[in-house]
Amino acid sequence: MRRSLHLKLMLIMVLLIVSLMVVVGAFLMNSVTRYYIDDFYEQMAAAFGQDNVDFIRDLQRPTKDETDGAAMVEAVLRAYGGTLGVDGRNRNYYVLDGTNGRYLAGSAPQPEGGLAITPNITTALLGEPGYDSSAAADYMDAAIPITRGGQRYIVYILDNRATARSLNGEMFSLILEALVLGLVISVLLSFLLSKTMVAPLQRLTDAIEDVAEGDFSRKLEVTSGDEIGQLTESFNAMAGQLQTTIAAVENERNKLDTLFLHMADGVVAFDREERVIHSNPAAAQLLGREFTDQDSYGPLFGDLFPFREVEGAASHLAAERTVGGRYLELLLAPFARANQGGVLVLIHDVTAQRTAEQTRKDFVANVSHELRTPLTNIKSYAETLSDGVGDLPPEMERRFLGVILNESDRMIHILQDLLTLSRFDSGRSELRLTRFPFGKAVDDTYQAIRLDAQNHAHQLILDLSEDLPEIVADRERVVQVMMNILSNSIKYTPNGGRIVISAGREGDRVWMQVDDNGIGIPEADRGHIFERFYRVDKARSRQSGGTGLGLSIAREIMNQHEGAIYLVDKETPGLTVRMELPIGGPKRVRQNEER
Ligand code: ATP
Ligand code: MG
Repeated sequence: MRRSLHLKLMLIMVLLIVSLMVVVGAFLMNSVTRYYIDDFYEQMAAAFGQDNVDFIRDLQRPTKDETDGAAMVEAVLRAYGGTLGVDGRNRNYYVLDGTNGRYLAGSAPQPEGGLAITPNITTALLGEPGYDSSAAADYMDAAIPITRGGQRYIVYILDNRATARSLNGEMFSLILEALVLGLVISVLLSFLLSKTMVAPLQRLTDAIEDVAEGDFSRKLEVTSGDEIGQLTESFNAMAGQLQTTIAAVENERNKLDTLFLHMADGVVAFDREERVIHSNPAAAQLLGREFTDQDSYGPLFGDLFPFREVEGAASHLAAERTVGGRYLELLLAPFARANQGGVLVLIHDVTAQRTAEQTRKDFVANVSHELRTPLTNIKSYAETLSDGVGDLPPEMERRFLGVILNESDRMIHILQDLLTLSRFDSGRSELRLTRFPFGKAVDDTYQAIRLDAQNHAHQLILDLSEDLPEIVADRERVVQVMMNILSNSIKYTPNGGRIVISAGREGDRVWMQVDDNGIGIPEADRGHIFERFYRVDKARSRQSGGTGLGLSIAREIMNQHEGAIYLVDKETPGLTVRMELPIGGPKRVRQNEER
């Protein structure tokens, strides 16, 4: 940029100087020529005019006994040579024959080839004085006809303009010298100018390039009050403004980026060409795939709505999809900003709501079903009893009443379990924590269940470790869990089985484990048996009085204690259930007490 501006400046100056010199030179040289011509004719007019009577008289009056008139005229002219400016070299006078213009005498000999008959000579030959001049000619002349002693002569003054020419030549070389000097000065001046003008412009250019690359820290020093100074000031203001604006935009974008990155909902954005322009980790996770800018709308969401339909939608379109067992709600909406725009897909995971809803429905269905069976039984037996009052044999009546009582117990049992669960759900169930020996609790449970095991001809083995400590827990609840695990083993192990109860300590936790060699649980059901109402074999379980609530209550109790209950993998047939408890009681409670 510097070079080009410098070159332009130099060219302008050179052109200026050259054109100035040409104009001045032409004007001067023309003026000199004109001056010479005018001077010549003024001189002639003065010499041959009415004021110079003596000269004219001397030219025309012949002397006594004159023989050669031409020589006499020549003599007169020689005498007046000074007035006529004749020098014998550049300006000469000639005496010509007045009838044919032939050379008779002169201050110089006749030139080779004779004198040219100029327009002025022709005029003089016709008897009129010729004073005409032609600027184009390279001479100037004057021809005056005179009559002397009856003879006609022409006095002819011829100037070859050499003086004017040499003066012009001199002037030309002078102008040339001035031109060269002017050129040198203009080159130097253009250097100086480009230094004062181009240097600040170059600094501005550098700074603008920095700004273009995102560096706004450059502040330029304002060194002058001229237009460049103003430009620099405007640049500084603009850079400052730009910096604050970009910082604000960046801040906003960072906020959005963070939001995008961490939001639970997935977002995928497409441009007008249906290409992915943005996607967040949640989208990749929910849809189970990574996105690149090579992905397009069609294969991803084209099955829900065509791209153009979403683009033209008033607000948004909703759709649903299941991916990898998850329920996804999709909102597809157009977005437009200036001439950019596209489609935004928002992916919302509604699996939790759906499962909760499903669980609630299942639960209601289960509860109704569980209560209906005993109620139906009670009703039909009661009806039979009421229909046949007095007719039925007493032992049949007793049996029927026994069934009615049994079924009522079962209903009460179910309702009690449900009540317990609902207390857990609503958080109304407080633990009554006490300190008691863990080994004693296990032993008490063992004693309580021993008779039951004997009735089923089970071999019940108790294996307690020596170092069982006292623990802080809700004793009644813990025993309830132990009872459930043990009674399950008794229930789901065919008569004559072997049940081993073991307990021990591991770090700051105690554990109890019940291992049986019963029917066990198929692999597919193992993940579900802690769910409410879940039973592997419904008929068998109900027959043995089970409702499928025992283990779910056990898990709730263990969770409240910050303990655990789970199935232990084993090779041999049967099932191993293990429960764990923190010795010091649940941390949550301990922290509350410390406060
Ligand atoms: P409840 O305990 O409410 O009287 P339940 O014993 O049927 O009824 P859970 O204790 O929750 O219910 O047990 C759930 C299911 O797990 C049982 O119905 C049974 O199918 C299976 N199960 C539990 N323990 C065993 C076990 N030791 N061996 C085989 N299956 C078992
Ligand atoms: Mg049970």
